[in-house]
Amino acid sequence: MDIINAILTIVFSVNFVLATLIFINRKNSNGSIYFSLAAYCTTVWVLSMFFFRKVDNLDTIIIPTKLLYVSGILISTFFLRFSYAFLSKNTYRLFFVPITIPTALLVILIIFSSLIVDSVTYVASGEKNVFFGTAYPIYGFVMLLYFLWSYFNFYKTYKTENTENKYRLSLIVAGTGLSVFSGLVFDIIFPYFGNFDLYWLGPVLTIIFVSFTAYAILKHKLFNVKIIATELLTFSLWILISIRAFLSTTFEDQLINGGLLIATVILGIFLIRSVIKEVETREEIEMLAKDLSAANERLKELDKLKSEFVSIASHQLRSPLTAIKGYASLVLDGTYGKVPPSIKEAVDKMYQASQSLVVMVEDFLNISRIEQGRMRFELELTDLEDVIKKVIAEQALSVERVGLKLSFSTDQQPPYMSVVDTGKIRQVVTNLIDNAIKYTPSGSISVRLSKNTTRGKIIISIADTGIGIDKEMAPTLFAKFTRAKEANKVNVIGAGLGLYIVKEIVTGHHGRAWVESEGKGKGSTFFVELDEDPVTSHAIKVANFAKTM
Ligand code: ADP
Repeated sequence: MDIINAILTIVFSVNFVLATLIFINRKNSNGSIYFSLAAYCTTVWVLSMFFFRKVDNLDTIIIPTKLLYVSGILISTFFLRFSYAFLSKNTYRLFFVPITIPTALLVILIIFSSLIVDSVTYVASGEKNVFFGTAYPIYGFVMLLYFLWSYFNFYKTYKTENTENKYRLSLIVAGTGLSVFSGLVFDIIFPYFGNFDLYWLGPVLTIIFVSFTAYAILKHKLFNVKIIATELLTFSLWILISIRAFLSTTFEDQLINGGLLIATVILGIFLIRSVIKEVETREEIEMLAKDLSAANERLKELDKLKSEFVSIASHQLRSPLTAIKGYASLVLDGTYGKVPPSIKEAVDKMYQASQSLVVMVEDFLNISRIEQGRMRFELELTDLEDVIKKVIAEQALSVERVGLKLSFSTDQQPPYMSVVDTGKIRQVVTNLIDNAIKYTPSGSISVRLSKNTTRGKIIISIADTGIGIDKEMAPTLFAKFTRAKEANKVNVIGAGLGLYIVKEIVTGHHGRAWVESEGKGKGSTFFVELDEDPVTSHAIKVANFAKTM
């Protein structure tokens, strides 16, 4: 095989692969299909040139020769169509007839007459020359016209496009310009004057034509690099095995290579399809993720707005509520004179309701503080016994009203000093006692204060004889907005925030809060464990030690 034919084989393979790449990866919009058709025609042109050079029989050589000119005019026709579609101008319809008719006529004339391509003969130098018919200049003119027209289209659009598209257009014009120019000169004009020295150069240079444009079309789809790599690999395999199949001499070899070819084609198609699918899925997921993160941002904003709103609303509610509660308790105490029992009952209800609301509003305020990250602890040395006694005194009326017994005891190891935010711990105890009242239809509530001296902890426990808690439910109750099913039956008021706040405050103090219950109907005990003030505990130890001396 001579060197030029070897080059033509390579050019053919590259053009074929690129044309197929574009064909497979085309998106309907940018007319890549017309370019891939133009590229397929270049492969035919290159192949025809290969056979024109190889075939020596002057009768059969007319077939590749005529094919040279058929593919030539088709390249220019598809390129012109591409110049319209790629530029997303729909005006092509107007030119459909003017373009298709001359192309069709020329193809018919080439194949069925000798008006354009007449015959091939050997000249003195031993080279093959083509003899043209009288219509050949028209053929050359039409082809030149098509290319000029295409470039005119590119130029028109170039002016209106953005930078990215301008770059792509420049690539196409630069890449195709050189090949088109050399094709017209070496394969249309020179041969007309009998010069066939560089007849082969046009087909060889189509490699630039195809590769520049392919790059311009495929470049912007960076994601598809993976697909393109897979396709290139597969196509290379196909071509390699095809060449082997062609070159094999024995029937056995042909059979093996043929089978191999079929297998790789089928497997290759599956491989490419699966990679395309994977890439598409990934693109889809990326899109979804973008949407999701936008939605998430929006939700966070809304959540912040909500917390601010709750905080403002709760502040506004607090003072009127305190007034209602205060005046109700004054009426009940008889400050405004003796109260008849029927009125007393009504005011008592007002007092109870306002008390629950006070707890709730305080919960909301705390929630919005937690959510806005504004929960601050003002720590001070506090006697927990004092705190508990005050809360109990406050709740005494409520307990009495529902007919429960509320007792308080300690393990007789005073004082119970801890460094805490007194107001917040008071809220914790209030919430727990409030819950005990709410979820205990009858019986008693025992609040107890004890110490674990070895671990330096103070434990507050609030035990009731109420509805109890399901074993499975117990750990979940401290989460936001969680309520057990039974809660609604016993006490409808409640948002499921109380225990969440208890937990947030206690853990904020590096303490622990938990619940123990034997199960439904068997009462429950809530525990809060806080650090004992180390200085106090040390002082107590010293004093106790002194006593034993
Ligand atoms: P709320 O009382 O507003 O529903 P909490 O967070 O204070 O919210 O309590 C969450 C849930 O825990 C309650 O709905 C109830 O099911 C359960 N619970 C709390 N305290 C007790 C208790 N002492 N006995 C039984 N169940 C309780």
